[in-house]
Amino acid sequence: MLRFAPSPTGDMHIGNLRVAIFNYIVAKQRGEKFLVRIEDTDKERNIEGKDKEILALLELFKLIPDSVVYQSGNFHIHQQMAKQLLDKKKAFVCFCDEEELNKEREKAKKEKRPYRYSGKCENLSSDEVEKLLKEKKPFVIRIKKPENNIKFKDEIKGEFDFSPFEVDSFVILRKDYTPTYNFACAIDDMLYDISLVIRGEDHLSNTPKQIHIRNSLGYDKEIKYAHLPIILNEEGKKLSKRENHASVKWLLEEGFMPEAIVNYLILLGNSFEKEVFTLDEAIEFFDLSKISRSPAKFDIEKLKFLNKEHMKRIENLSEYLGYHKQYEELLKIFRDESATLKEIREKFEAVFEKAKDDEFKNEREILKKEILENELEDSYDEFKKRVSKNTSLKGKKLFMPLRELLINQKHGAEIKDLYKAMKPYLKEVVKTR
Ligand code: GLU
Repeated sequence: MLRFAPSPTGDMHIGNLRVAIFNYIVAKQRGEKFLVRIEDTDKERNIEGKDKEILALLELFKLIPDSVVYQSGNFHIHQQMAKQLLDKKKAFVCFCDEEELNKEREKAKKEKRPYRYSGKCENLSSDEVEKLLKEKKPFVIRIKKPENNIKFKDEIKGEFDFSPFEVDSFVILRKDYTPTYNFACAIDDMLYDISLVIRGEDHLSNTPKQIHIRNSLGYDKEIKYAHLPIILNEEGKKLSKRENHASVKWLLEEGFMPEAIVNYLILLGNSFEKEVFTLDEAIEFFDLSKISRSPAKFDIEKLKFLNKEHMKRIENLSEYLGYHKQYEELLKIFRDESATLKEIREKFEAVFEKAKDDEFKNEREILKKEILENELEDSYDEFKKRVSKNTSLKGKKLFMPLRELLINQKHGAEIKDLYKAMKPYLKEVVKTR
């Protein structure tokens, strides 16, 4: 089974979406199930409703999970396993308070060395522990650091080797008995029989901790890992969650199609013979092991190119955009000159608005009368002949106001094409100018 494990603590960004896509694709390629696990262990950081938002986005992107679980539903199991580790002396009760730990952290910072837990409570006798528990002193549970190095091979990045010092004796159960991220994640990956974890490389340092947890529990089935290189912004810096481009919601609002975003994120850091494809097609040729090890750079121009390609594939554009079908031909004209759905919409909606500027106001009035007071010719050439003759307008003074009458823009599509597309409702449109 593969899994996508979002935390409901913020908006979905493209890095998360890319992780979801790759897990989905590999699950389909292997004929394994795709689980979505909402990682709601951190009550303070959870944001109400984010889980539903994430699930709705997955549906929009057609990344349909076989099942959805909430990590909090397994808290009792996490607690039982923490108890098991305590009983096996692989974990210990820690009474160090935040103030004490913060001092140690500060000290380590000053001395420019990484902070590690001092090991203080590991050496408490069982009598001392009993006593402090009786006094109701708050405590956490820490797992003991491993005795040997933790080694693993990442499917993308190769071999890793972490020392016990790097893994450290870290907290697995908080004061309120909720599990920490690493503990819940390591156990759930085991419970759901996850075969491969694909996630962002920001989790790389968590991997030895999670392996150590399962080793301590005696789970010996190997779970493989693939950590995806980060996505950089156009300046080559780490794409921050706060940048617009990084937000999936923002990209959708800007009029990028889900199909184009998926296509783009699969292509990012990959090279295939084909550049434009669907999710289903990608399942045929995607190869996780061929992903570039170096960070991928976000390129909005490439995304626009793919968006244009996917927009061309929309069969019934007016229906897709929610407009009356009589506008199909006009919408197609706008599509040819737009990079996003939002641009098409803006161009289309401008058609029904009042004129924007007065440079050709007089010419517009003359042409308006000419259009409203006569029957429209079938062909644009005949129409143009008549209008030129009756109004003696020509060149820029004919085409610009005419285009403004039609679509409220001085520049843009060929008037001939617009005339043909708009003839059935041209008079209605012209009246609004
Ligand atoms: N909940 C983690 C996150 O949203 C994912 C952890 C994982 O995939 O193991 O970053």
